[in-house]
Amino acid sequence: MSVSKDSHPGLLQSVLTNKCPHCRKGDLFINPNPYDLKSTMKMPDHCPACGQKYDLQTGFYFGTGFVSYGITVLFSGLTFVLWWFTIGMGIRDNRVWYWLAINAVSLVLLQPPVQRLSRSIWIALFVKYDSGWKNDGLVA
Ligand SMILES: [Zn+2]
Repeated sequence: MSVSKDSHPGLLQSVLTNKCPHCRKGDLFINPNPYDLKSTMKMPDHCPACGQKYDLQTGFYFGTGFVSYGITVLFSGLTFVLWWFTIGMGIRDNRVWYWLAINAVSLVLLQPPVQRLSRSIWIALFVKYDSGWKNDGLVA
Protein backbone atom coordinates (compact mmCIF):
# COMPACT_ATOMS: atom_id res chain seq x y z
CA MET A 1 0.00 0.00 0.00
CA SER A 2 1.86 3.02 -1.21
CA VAL A 3 -1.15 5.29 -1.10
CA SER A 4 -1.00 7.30 2.08
CA LYS A 5 -4.18 8.51 3.63
CA ASP A 6 -3.59 12.23 3.90
CA SER A 7 -5.69 14.43 6.08
CA HIS A 8 -8.68 16.22 4.68
CA PRO A 9 -11.03 18.70 6.30
CA GLY A 10 -14.39 17.44 7.53
CA LEU A 11 -17.66 18.27 5.81
CA LEU A 12 -18.48 21.25 8.05
CA GLN A 13 -15.01 22.76 7.71
CA SER A 14 -14.93 22.32 3.95
CA VAL A 15 -18.40 23.90 3.59
CA LEU A 16 -17.51 26.82 5.86
CA THR A 17 -14.21 27.45 4.06
CA ASN A 18 -15.83 27.15 0.58
CA LYS A 19 -13.92 24.08 -0.59
CA CYS A 20 -14.80 21.67 -3.38
CA PRO A 21 -17.14 19.01 -1.90
CA HIS A 22 -15.56 16.24 -4.00
CA CYS A 23 -11.94 16.60 -2.80
CA ARG A 24 -12.28 19.23 -0.02
CA LYS A 25 -9.01 20.76 -1.26
CA GLY A 26 -9.76 23.07 -4.19
CA ASP A 27 -11.35 26.47 -3.68
CA LEU A 28 -14.91 27.03 -4.89
CA PHE A 29 -14.27 30.71 -5.60
CA ILE A 30 -11.54 32.39 -7.62
CA ASN A 31 -11.02 35.30 -5.23
CA PRO A 32 -10.63 34.35 -1.54
CA ASN A 33 -11.97 37.76 -0.48
CA PRO A 34 -15.81 37.77 -0.58
CA TYR A 35 -15.90 41.56 -0.21
CA ASP A 36 -14.20 42.12 -3.55
CA LEU A 37 -17.68 42.61 -4.99
CA LYS A 38 -16.71 42.37 -8.65
CA SER A 39 -15.63 38.77 -8.18
CA THR A 40 -17.67 37.68 -5.15
CA MET A 41 -19.52 34.91 -6.98
CA LYS A 42 -16.92 34.06 -9.65
CA MET A 43 -16.13 30.36 -9.62
CA PRO A 44 -13.78 28.37 -11.83
CA ASP A 45 -15.50 25.93 -14.23
CA HIS A 46 -13.76 23.00 -12.56
CA CYS A 47 -12.07 22.35 -9.22
CA PRO A 48 -8.37 23.29 -9.51
CA ALA A 49 -7.43 20.25 -7.39
CA CYS A 50 -9.61 17.36 -8.63
CA GLY A 51 -11.38 18.68 -11.73
CA GLN A 52 -14.90 18.40 -10.29
CA LYS A 53 -17.30 20.40 -12.45
CA TYR A 54 -18.81 23.23 -10.38
CA ASP A 55 -21.76 24.26 -12.55
CA LEU A 56 -23.53 20.90 -12.60
CA GLN A 57 -26.29 22.07 -14.91
CA THR A 58 -27.76 25.29 -16.26
CA GLY A 59 -29.26 27.27 -13.41
CA PHE A 60 -27.80 24.92 -10.83
CA TYR A 61 -27.28 27.68 -8.28
CA PHE A 62 -30.83 29.09 -8.43
CA GLY A 63 -31.64 26.84 -5.49
CA THR A 64 -29.17 28.67 -3.27
CA GLY A 65 -31.92 31.25 -2.67
CA PHE A 66 -33.61 28.76 -0.34
CA VAL A 67 -30.33 28.15 1.50
CA SER A 68 -29.52 31.83 1.96
CA TYR A 69 -33.10 32.43 3.11
CA GLY A 70 -32.63 29.73 5.76
CA ILE A 71 -29.29 31.20 6.86
CA THR A 72 -30.85 34.66 7.07
CA VAL A 73 -33.79 33.44 9.17
CA LEU A 74 -31.42 31.51 11.47
CA PHE A 75 -29.16 34.55 11.85
CA SER A 76 -32.10 36.84 12.60
CA GLY A 77 -33.53 34.40 15.13
CA LEU A 78 -30.16 34.12 16.84
CA THR A 79 -29.62 37.91 17.03
CA PHE A 80 -33.22 38.32 18.26
CA VAL A 81 -32.67 35.87 21.12
CA LEU A 82 -29.28 37.41 21.96
CA TRP A 83 -30.81 40.89 21.93
CA TRP A 84 -33.74 39.71 24.07
CA PHE A 85 -31.46 38.26 26.75
CA THR A 86 -28.83 41.03 26.78
CA ILE A 87 -30.62 44.28 25.96
CA GLY A 88 -34.22 43.19 26.23
CA MET A 89 -37.39 44.05 24.36
CA GLY A 90 -40.10 46.40 25.47
CA ILE A 91 -43.45 47.57 24.13
CA ARG A 92 -43.02 51.10 25.50
CA ASP A 93 -39.54 51.82 24.13
CA ASN A 94 -37.64 51.52 20.87
CA ARG A 95 -35.37 48.56 21.69
CA VAL A 96 -37.10 46.24 19.23
CA TRP A 97 -36.61 48.79 16.44
CA TYR A 98 -32.91 49.10 17.28
CA TRP A 99 -32.62 45.33 16.99
CA LEU A 100 -34.46 45.40 13.69
CA ALA A 101 -32.22 48.14 12.27
CA ILE A 102 -28.97 46.56 13.47
CA ASN A 103 -30.08 43.14 12.23
CA ALA A 104 -31.01 44.54 8.81
CA VAL A 105 -27.68 46.37 8.44
CA SER A 106 -25.80 43.25 9.58
CA LEU A 107 -27.62 41.13 7.00
CA VAL A 108 -26.71 43.55 4.21
CA LEU A 109 -23.06 43.63 5.30
CA LEU A 110 -22.95 39.82 5.56
CA GLN A 111 -24.48 39.20 2.12
CA PRO A 112 -21.24 38.33 0.26
CA PRO A 113 -20.11 35.57 2.68
CA VAL A 114 -23.73 34.36 3.10
CA GLN A 115 -24.14 34.01 -0.67
CA ARG A 116 -20.87 32.07 -0.88
CA LEU A 117 -21.84 29.86 2.04
CA SER A 118 -25.20 29.18 0.36
CA ARG A 119 -23.46 27.98 -2.80
CA SER A 120 -21.03 25.91 -0.77
CA ILE A 121 -23.89 24.21 1.11
CA TRP A 122 -25.90 23.78 -2.09
CA ILE A 123 -23.15 22.02 -4.07
CA ALA A 124 -22.27 19.89 -1.03
CA LEU A 125 -25.85 18.56 -1.09
CA PHE A 126 -25.30 17.14 -4.58
CA VAL A 127 -21.58 16.27 -4.74
CA LYS A 128 -20.32 13.73 -2.21
CA TYR A 129 -16.79 13.49 -0.87
CA ASP A 130 -14.60 10.90 -2.57
CA SER A 131 -11.59 9.84 -0.50
CA GLY A 132 -10.03 8.25 -3.59
CA TRP A 133 -10.33 11.36 -5.74
CA LYS A 134 -6.56 11.42 -6.39
CA ASN A 135 -6.64 7.94 -7.88
CA ASP A 136 -9.87 8.28 -9.79
CA GLY A 137 -8.47 10.97 -12.01
CA LEU A 138 -10.37 13.92 -13.33
CA VAL A 139 -14.12 13.86 -13.46
CA ALA A 140 -15.90 15.61 -16.24
ZN1 LIG B 1 -12.09 19.17 -5.97
